[in-house]
Amino acid sequence: DSVCDTVDDGRCSVLTQALYRDRTEPEFLQTVHEIMVSTESLLMENPKYFDVFQRMIEPERVITFRVPWVDDNGRTHVNRGFRVQMSSTLGPYKGGLRFHPTVNLSILKFLAFEQLFKNALTGVSLGAGKGGADFDPKGKSDTEVMRFCQSFMTELCKHIGPGVDVPAGDIGVGGREIGYLYGQYKRLTGRFEGALTGKGPTWGGSHIRPEATGYGAVYFSEHMMRGAGHVKGLEGMRAAISGSGNVAQFAAEKLLDLGATPMTFSDSGGTLYCETGFTRDHLALIQDLKNNKRGRLSAIADVPEFTYLPESTPWGMSCDVAFPCATQNELKAEDAQNLVANGCMAVVEGANMPTTPEAYQCLKESGVLFGPAKAANAGGVGVSGLEMAQNSGGLSWTREEVDSQLKDMMKNIYDETSAAALRVGQPNDLRTGADVAAFLRVADAMIDQGCV
Ligand code: GLU
Repeated sequence: DSVCDTVDDGRCSVLTQALYRDRTEPEFLQTVHEIMVSTESLLMENPKYFDVFQRMIEPERVITFRVPWVDDNGRTHVNRGFRVQMSSTLGPYKGGLRFHPTVNLSILKFLAFEQLFKNALTGVSLGAGKGGADFDPKGKSDTEVMRFCQSFMTELCKHIGPGVDVPAGDIGVGGREIGYLYGQYKRLTGRFEGALTGKGPTWGGSHIRPEATGYGAVYFSEHMMRGAGHVKGLEGMRAAISGSGNVAQFAAEKLLDLGATPMTFSDSGGTLYCETGFTRDHLALIQDLKNNKRGRLSAIADVPEFTYLPESTPWGMSCDVAFPCATQNELKAEDAQNLVANGCMAVVEGANMPTTPEAYQCLKESGVLFGPAKAANAGGVGVSGLEMAQNSGGLSWTREEVDSQLKDMMKNIYDETSAAALRVGQPNDLRTGADVAAFLRVADAMIDQGCV
């Protein structure tokens, strides 16, 4: 709003029109609004940036398609499939696929827009996209998931490929789904090539890709804590984690490596709390439950050290740092108030946009350190970029090589983000810093490439 109050030369009506067109897409407008606020000074000072912003908020292409599949009883179902090809400015479209009943165009446009900025921060040549379907893998058999993935790829394969668009996983799409999707891609195109990332390590995948988002978020937070004067980094800190998928699991593992204590996990049923802190053995139990048995946390509630709190989130617990690693808008204003009241000093976003605008405001006003998703969780797609590089070069790097590149990447992201925050006069505001650094990288490249 303030941008439009200041710039009153007709340009705003164009922007207002564009945003009006998207009025039924609340999640997308939420992320667009965040970027407008963060880049306000740039948009006001430079008309070129203002024009670029208008182009940025319209995806280059949106594909929607029918996904019919047959269940184990022979009944036909139809889901809606999507691929939002947001931007090819910095490289081929890149971003995950989400299979979840809440998937719709607003969610995918918000995720694709976030991906644009996040991918820019990785420093790897990656454009931005996101896709998925409103299919619920929960309760489906292996063969049903396979048939769904095959049907989904039957259409998607016409729009992807290395150098064109390279999807990966997201919520509801892990190693199993990527395998079924890749098998079908190969069958239909006859090509063994890096058209997806998150593949198995023996068939073109990269080491550390499953771990990368969680590890990266912890590497980022370690820099953030030290940057704020906590000389021991995360050592000795109690961490509340939400979610129990691969981001949450591997964030917990890396926290243990760095001497911190994971205190909680959660899923849609409730929160699992361990007063003495989860150990590596506990993590193995949770990994087996989630990745192999595909069960809920309530199934292991009877382990003596655990307390299971049905229908609650981890944000009521006392902790030093919080890692929301579940989904968008999961951390709300009253959760933020609880975290502040319980002495939490940092929030690091493992999921995409897990903090609502009101919760963010509360954390900011209370001086809580904040690691924004676009920076903190960029390690996942960053290692996807390394997987693409290995595929095109016919190479296979060791765990150590990939991990060391991931560490460098997260350090660079932290350095660039804090430098950009300083540049716009908001030192320590890493969210503004991440938005500004990423915006400039994409915007300048769009200007270089001309307006078409
Ligand atoms: N879905 C992940 C994300 O939100 C990873 C995307 C990818 O590796 O392409 O960044």
